[in-house]
Amino acid sequence: MAHVKLFIPGPIEVSEKTLQAFRSPMIGHRGQGFKDLYARLQPKLQALFYTQQLVYLSTSSAWGVMEGAIRNLVAKKALCCMNGAFSDKWLDVAQRCGKAAEGLKVEWGQPIRAEAIDAKLATGQFDALTLIHNETSTGVMSSLVEIAALKKKYPDVMFIVDSVSSFSALKLPLDELGLDVLLTGSQKALAMPPGLALFACSPAALAKAATVPGRGYYFDFLEFQKNAEGNMTPSTPSIGHIFALESKLEDIFNEGLEARYARHRKLAQMTRDWALGQGFTLFPEKGSESVTLACVNNGAKPGSRVIDAEKLVSLVKKQGFLINGGYGKIKGTTFRVSNMGDETEATMKELFAVMDAALKQL
Ligand SMILES: *Cc1c(COP(=O)(O)O)cnc(C)c1O
Repeated sequence: MAHVKLFIPGPIEVSEKTLQAFRSPMIGHRGQGFKDLYARLQPKLQALFYTQQLVYLSTSSAWGVMEGAIRNLVAKKALCCMNGAFSDKWLDVAQRCGKAAEGLKVEWGQPIRAEAIDAKLATGQFDALTLIHNETSTGVMSSLVEIAALKKKYPDVMFIVDSVSSFSALKLPLDELGLDVLLTGSQKALAMPPGLALFACSPAALAKAATVPGRGYYFDFLEFQKNAEGNMTPSTPSIGHIFALESKLEDIFNEGLEARYARHRKLAQMTRDWALGQGFTLFPEKGSESVTLACVNNGAKPGSRVIDAEKLVSLVKKQGFLINGGYGKIKGTTFRVSNMGDETEATMKELFAVMDAALKQL
């Protein structure tokens, strides 16, 4: 089968180097080799999370840890910030876990604002907040700095943040922001195969978890902490992922974090410029556009050029590239192009040339 290069916002293209590491021979997960591997990764992971806490590796997709955060940290009621398909789903997940939860709903395309959260938390009803930093369905990034500043006012509320599609593409300093959980998945901005989630917790989150019954086992944060202290995971992890992570961390630190962040900003800007140059507008409210993907307005909001998005996707795919035709209730009326992972100006320009040619055929 011919290889189709992924420019969808996850899973994204995985490099040959990462794939090679992923298929390394297995080792035992309770042996010294594994402990040494995890111990080697830990300082780099802590640097990437900007944390003094241990970083945990969960063999699950991100949803496992998202659900886990609810089960570990919600005793009273969760406030679920909702501005797109992933964040909307988190309310549903909280309720399915049997927790009291309420949505803070914002129109798709808009960021979550600190003032709105403040007004809700002021009621005193909530002991946890769920937030998606980069809403992958709408291409909207909310300001973590502004939102995290509320933690000082509400120290007992657990701030749980999903950075699945933004982690490592910009600086998300966990300790400095004072967040309680920062979680991500392997197959988005980290450009690894799907199946691994990474997260870290504040000491307050671990203390809170110890008081919450019904945490289960597989996603019990205290199990993750206890095992990570010995450079292990609670259950047998996907060892191939951890080899792949080692390889990816090597790439990330060889490039340098600042250079990596600048590259993502630049490529996201190029993608937005391409869309505007083709007569489209952008779906996110101005100023809240993501650094890892562009959600292009194709009729979801007035003012944009409108094309047959499905046809565009199919023409581009014939040339060996996959973009996404919109997600959830804005499928077809938006389309999305990712610049996450290992992309460069040259690889983005290759894609733009193919999309330009496809648009001429519509
Ligand atoms: C992809 C995505 C998820 C879900 O990740 P899974 O790996 O499918 O569990 C959650 N949140 C955001 C923001 C995402 O982009």
